[in-house]
Amino acid sequence: MELPFRTGSFPSPPPIASEAMSPRLILVLGDQLSPDLSSLCAGDRAIDVVLMAEVMAEASYVRHHRKKLAFVFSAMRHFAEELRQAGWRVDYVRLDNPANTGTLQGEVQRALARHRLGQTLATEPGEWRLMETMRGWDATELLPDDRFVADRHGFAQWAQDRKGLRMEHFYRLMRRKTGLLMVGDQPAGGQWNFDMDNRKPAKSNVAMPRPLPFPPDPITREVLDMVAGRFDDHFGDLEPFWFATTRAEAEQAFAHFLKTSLRDFGAYQDAMLRDHKFLHHAFVAVYLNAGLLDPLEMCRAVETEWRAGRVPLNSAEGFIRQIIGWREFVRGVYWWRMPGYAASNALEAHRPLPEFYWSGDTPMACLRACIAQTREEAYAHHIQRLMVTGNFALLAGIDPHELHEWYLAVYADAYEWVELPNTIGMSQFADGGLLASKPYAASGAYIHRMSDYCGDCAYDVKAKAGPRACPFNLLYWRFIARHKQRLSRNPRMAQMVRTWERFSPEKQAQLVNDADAFLAVLG
Ligand SMILES: Cc1cc2nc3c(=O)[nH]c(=O)nc-3n(C[C@H](O)[C@H](O)[C@H](O)COP(=O)(O)OP(=O)(O)OC[C@H]3O[C@@H](n4cnc5c(N)ncnc54)[C@H](O)[C@@H]3O)c2cc1C
Ligand code: SF4
Repeated sequence: MELPFRTGSFPSPPPIASEAMSPRLILVLGDQLSPDLSSLCAGDRAIDVVLMAEVMAEASYVRHHRKKLAFVFSAMRHFAEELRQAGWRVDYVRLDNPANTGTLQGEVQRALARHRLGQTLATEPGEWRLMETMRGWDATELLPDDRFVADRHGFAQWAQDRKGLRMEHFYRLMRRKTGLLMVGDQPAGGQWNFDMDNRKPAKSNVAMPRPLPFPPDPITREVLDMVAGRFDDHFGDLEPFWFATTRAEAEQAFAHFLKTSLRDFGAYQDAMLRDHKFLHHAFVAVYLNAGLLDPLEMCRAVETEWRAGRVPLNSAEGFIRQIIGWREFVRGVYWWRMPGYAASNALEAHRPLPEFYWSGDTPMACLRACIAQTREEAYAHHIQRLMVTGNFALLAGIDPHELHEWYLAVYADAYEWVELPNTIGMSQFADGGLLASKPYAASGAYIHRMSDYCGDCAYDVKAKAGPRACPFNLLYWRFIARHKQRLSRNPRMAQMVRTWERFSPEKQAQLVNDADAFLAVLG
């Protein structure tokens, strides 16, 4: 069967002969820092001009974490240098340039006039908002972004013909299409998915690896000074700043992950520890989403580790599934369902985002720890996002749009195409179950099992009711009660609805009253 997805490496379009074309302005965006970007492959370095611009409109449409801003600006400046060294004429507009208009469109117009050019070429942006804007620009050609395994039109075609959309089905297609971890037409190890092996809690007293740090070079130092001066009202600690900012550094960081963390990546993927922010996670989404790493090259390197016997299959499969499965799947859903997807609110959640999501000032130790590390590192791993900050918001009925803006702002790897479906679909079930087969709702018992947070908490994770009861316990039953009609139709949640219905009316009333009392204080 021919599948509507791209495969393997990405062929570049043939170079265009200079005599046939007039020179163009090639706009490269801050998350397009890849030498094999379609617009660069289609351009001609002998005559075209590359424009890169730091603009206030993009830097401030949400209050992006200051480490995220520093990373993007520094990586852009480094990439511009690399393009110059590769023979491109690069026009780079800094944020503090007094003539900077503050918008991409304004900078494109200024650059066209400056270089006496009439046409712009760009690779499609990753966000719907920007796509709409750029489609309205005069004399601008947009090329597909082929840095993904599946193309977005192919995904939409595949998705719209299906009754139910499940990541697992899509993932199997991607495995077959890429050949990753395949033995002939069958999955290596006889199973597609080893997720059941990947749910171990971790011990807090063992040594843990850490992502590779990189001391800021002069380019990054200059950026750090600029961000400190111009974005002091944005969220997050700017320093210590230790992220990779070039492709070479990002590749070193990934090689370090392969050597130190991949082996145990699978087993402890869902674990959370107070003193270990990264556990065995890769800390690569920030680099990958900006274009500094290539998803298929990463997956092939992981497969090589497994084939060489250096890492177990559950770890290799777990990692590859996140990249060619979840990452591609959420992108497909984003482009297929935007713009309406952003406004989804199937569970009618309207509570404002509590202030403690920004300050971390809460007696709930799990939330305090996850928010503190988010402020420090612009990072929390998947389970912290899904089962702590996301789970709390889901149970408390926080407005999914406010929550989306928070996730988009606070994580260094956050771009709308990947963040929005994870928030609206996976974490908040606000799309009514399009992306996830069930709401990721859990009581305190889950957090207690998978973390060491509860020992440090003002609440008692074992208490089910009363003023000291873990708020996740109270809110969990309120959530089940509130959505019991919808949840009773979901085979993976119906059992919890039946359990709720077996509670005595007095117990039900007490649980709901205690949960309401907690929410009344929350605001
Ligand atoms: C509410 C919520 C918001 C999220 N927002 C973002 C976001 O803005 N940007 C982002 O890249 N990821 C997001 N994720 C997915 C995931 O949490 C991050 O990709 C991951 O934590 C990044 O850390 P890491 O590089 O150490 O990943 P690892 O745990 O080491 O995983 C390896 C890689 O797999 C990919 N991956 C894993 N899970 C997902 C997923 N669900 N969706 C897409 N890619 C995935 C990432 O590229 C990641 O780098 C979000 C998840 C949730 C629940
Ligand atoms: S007791 Fe509840 S609120 Fe406190 S850390 Fe545990 S799960 Fe979080």
